Amino acid sequence: MEGQGVSCGYPSRIQRIDIAMIYLTRKMEFCASHLYHNPALSAEENKRIFGKCNNPHGHGHNYTLEVTVAGEPDPVTGMVLDLKELKEILEREIAQRMDHRFLNYEVEELKGQIPTCENIARVIFNLLEPKIEKGRLYKVRLYETPELFAECYRNGARPA
Ligand SMILES: [Zn+2]
Repeated sequence: MEGQGVSCGYPSRIQRIDIAMIYLTRKMEFCASHLYHNPALSAEENKRIFGKCNNPHGHGHNYTLEVTVAGEPDPVTGMVLDLKELKEILEREIAQRMDHRFLNYEVEELKGQIPTCENIARVIFNLLEPKIEKGRLYKVRLYETPELFAECYRNGARPA
């Protein structure tokens, strides 16, 4: 039948569409401190909403970041992207910016935002997305503690 079945050579376009997408995840850790305070609210409201997190001297977390890239393995290398390269991007874009920093004051991209796990995850997604050129950034998951994480997907929506 025309258009179906391939006896030799590269798979047909129809078969290529059937190849399952791969999701590749790299993990890294960093330590940072933060505090929650909204200057638009009164001192009492800040205390009520943010509780201990409103302590003006801040507190620290050991964050765990998981970055997932979606793509198809390259037929030559078998890789969606070079994991060494991804490690370098994470080092340059995230570790150098956020590791051992006071997130409220030292991270330009978080200025004017409360550095919650949610907001940090979104900032990280936006920093990484333009740097990942092979495959595409699918998800950023940021653990603030082993029990709590926030996830950020492209356009804020989890793709089907
Ligand atoms: Zn905290």
